Amino acid sequence: MKITIGHLYPDLLNLYGDRGNIQCMKKRCEWRGIEAEVKEFQLTDAIDFSSLDIVLLGGGSDREQMLVCNQLKTIQKDFKEYVEDNGVVIAVCGGYQLLGHYYDTSEGRIEGLSLVDLYTEQGSPRLISNIVIENEAFPYPIVGFENHGGRTFINGNKALGKVSFGYGNNGQDKEEGVMYKNVIGTYLHGPLLPKNPHVCDHLLARALAKKYGRAELEPLDDAQEKEANEYIVHRFTKS
Ligand code: GLN
Repeated sequence: MKITIGHLYPDLLNLYGDRGNIQCMKKRCEWRGIEAEVKEFQLTDAIDFSSLDIVLLGGGSDREQMLVCNQLKTIQKDFKEYVEDNGVVIAVCGGYQLLGHYYDTSEGRIEGLSLVDLYTEQGSPRLISNIVIENEAFPYPIVGFENHGGRTFINGNKALGKVSFGYGNNGQDKEEGVMYKNVIGTYLHGPLLPKNPHVCDHLLARALAKKYGRAELEPLDDAQEKEANEYIVHRFTKS
C-alpha cells in the first residue's frame, strides 16, 4: 500500500512549522509498512490531483495568503473535483481560511477556493491561546494552539469540534474548525498531528479507504502522546 501526500506551497504556507504534520503522516505510515511519498508544489507548479491521496495546506500570514490567492484560481476547478470525489485534505489556519469563499482583511479581500461553504473576516484582537476541543467521533480530545486574526463562519457545516478551552472559529459560537466530506480545516497549527495522533490516523484511514476500499490501521504505541494530551486537557479544562 502507498499513500501520496501533496504539500501545497510549503515556502509560503508553512507558519509555525506546519511541515511537521507531513512528517507525522509519513512516519505513521512507515511504522505500519505503508509506503508514503511526499510531493511538494511551489506556486507555479501544475498539480495533478488524481495522483494525490492527502493534500496539506498550511498556515500563512495575511501577506503570504494574498500572494497565494491569485494562483489558487488556476487550481480551483481541479481541487474542487478532488474534494467532491472524497479526496482527503488537511488545511491549517491560513490554509483553512483559503478553503472558504474569502477572507476580508483591512488590506482588502483575499479570495479563497470556495471548496467549503465558509468565510472569514478579520477582527481584533488576534485570538491567541492554547485550545482544547471535543468531538465524539474521536476517541479523546484534540489539543493545540491557535493564533489568528480571522473569524471564520462555517454556515451550518459540521465543526471539527466543540471548544472546551480557547476561542475556536470566531470566539463566539464555541465551535472550532470544519469537517466537510474528507476535508478537515482547523485553526490548530504547529504540531497538530504529532499532538493528536488520532486525527492523523483519521486522515490516513480516510485516504486508505478511498484508495483501497479498506482502512484497517495497525495500532501504534501512542502512550506518551496520550499522556501529553491528557496533561493538556487537565491543565486547561479541569483545574
Ligand atoms: N493570517 C491569518 C490570520 O491571522 C492566518 C494566520 C495563521 O495561519 N496563523 O487570521
